[in-house]
Amino acid sequence: VPTTQPEPTDPLGFASLLWERTLQYGSKLADSLSDEAPAKPTEDIVVLGSGWGAAALVGALGSNGERVTVVSPRNYFLFTPMLAGAAVGTVEYRSITQPVRSLNKHAAYVEATATAVDTERKVVVCEAVVCEGSQCSIDEFELPYDRVVIAVGATTNTFGVPGVREHCLFLKQISDADSLRKALGNAFERASLPTLSADERRRALSFCVVGAGPTGVEFCGELRDFLAADAARYYPDLVGEARVTLLEATDQVLGAFDASLRAEALDELRVRRLATDNQDIAGVDVKLGAQVTEVNGTHVLLGEADPVPYGFCVWATGNGAVSVVSETVSSLGEGAQAEAQATARGRLAVDPWLRVLGAPRGEVYALGDCACGAPPLPATAQVAAQQGEYLAGLLRGAGRYDLGAAKPCRAGGRRLDELFCETEGDSVVARPFQFLNLGILAYVGDSKALAQVSLGDSTLKDTGRRAFALWRSVYLAKQVSLRNRVLVAGDWVRDRVFGRDITRF
Ligand code: FAD
Repeated sequence: VPTTQPEPTDPLGFASLLWERTLQYGSKLADSLSDEAPAKPTEDIVVLGSGWGAAALVGALGSNGERVTVVSPRNYFLFTPMLAGAAVGTVEYRSITQPVRSLNKHAAYVEATATAVDTERKVVVCEAVVCEGSQCSIDEFELPYDRVVIAVGATTNTFGVPGVREHCLFLKQISDADSLRKALGNAFERASLPTLSADERRRALSFCVVGAGPTGVEFCGELRDFLAADAARYYPDLVGEARVTLLEATDQVLGAFDASLRAEALDELRVRRLATDNQDIAGVDVKLGAQVTEVNGTHVLLGEADPVPYGFCVWATGNGAVSVVSETVSSLGEGAQAEAQATARGRLAVDPWLRVLGAPRGEVYALGDCACGAPPLPATAQVAAQQGEYLAGLLRGAGRYDLGAAKPCRAGGRRLDELFCETEGDSVVARPFQFLNLGILAYVGDSKALAQVSLGDSTLKDTGRRAFALWRSVYLAKQVSLRNRVLVAGDWVRDRVFGRDITRF
């Protein structure tokens, strides 16, 4: 506080001088603070999606002054690795979901589907289904943004095979798991009808799964657990006739695993199992190199090979693009970046900071299954969650440094946020995203699993019951809330004691 001015002698003058100097001091203090962290204008960050990537991002964004709005047609986060279990009743749907609104109390949520991202006008075009009583209509509106994060995941890729959309079931969402659970009950109740011929009964109890990635294999494992424990108890006369066929176009199951673990998975799937009441459950008929050419109302066609009859058929092959992603890709810039978008095969090509190539820099980001970096990362929850956390770190510092220029880590001559900064020549730039592969796990049924876990430079491989214990521990720990953990553990105990619930509504 300067002391060069003469001090007033009257009390009123003294008070006014004191007030004036207090104000001067306050403004100097504010200036010195803003030197370290310049005041940040409030930004509108719009996050599209409520899955793994979006949940990790929104949960880690905290309350940093930005206005965060989550847009998703699904008002909950879904723990996808347990979806196969939910489809046969091993866990209940509500045990593996968590409301979006609980992820971050500072974030707003809009229940809508994003149909387009207009990067010129900086708005997201949305559609919401609005119902009043029994009348529903579609409302279209726009949300302005300063930065938008596209984390809308992927759809199931049918590869244009005729009949798949009409006749197959999928396993991506809770509604899919619910349809599957109903179809499973339906198959056994239908097979119990006295009017059915032997052939019709056998077909009703034929379950076909297309795609031997983690989703297809885990569903086969869960389905066989259901057959061995619950179908054997409730339908003892029918369970012996149940058949599970797994069709895979390539020559291996669980391609991401090591060869020895893949062989173990095949053995485990193919082995006959002893069920409750000493019934025998047939092994999964795994057909490798089986290229599906068409699915009709009763059979899966395999070109020249024998068609496979089915009661229900689950299509669990690769990922396809969500329409808002294709829409955004087609609206992006020309030249090299458009070329990069073309090679991303329906995903949004991103740079190492997850910024969408061809979009205005620092304004449009993509992560998870709908994003494709160089080199492309696997479409897993692990990648999406790590990207979400990473991007939250970048965006938290966005007001203090310029993400658009990718030289963001200096302010007032000081280095900020060490975790997200690194030196490049003379300048300091934001650290690019780096995936830390923690390993992969897959359930194969009969309380057995495969584990391929990274431990520093080495990899731990394990199978059987010990891997299953690890599988359960990891997925229990990874639940997004204590509530989910308690509910999932409760479901497991309930299954052990009472078996799965086969009631149908
Ligand atoms: P998602 O988690 O799919 O989330 C996408 C979100 O976007 C959803 O909330 C959706 O409603 C929303 N959305 C969609 N369209 C729009 C739109 N137009 N506008 C706004 N919002 C939209 N990975 C593993 O690492 N380990 C596993 O064991 C494993 N098991 C799996 C089992 C199954 C059955 C499945 C289906 C997947 C499994 N995965 C596993 C893969 C993992 O689930 C995905 O990689 C992960 O969900 C990708 O996260 P994401 O955030 O990109 O998308």
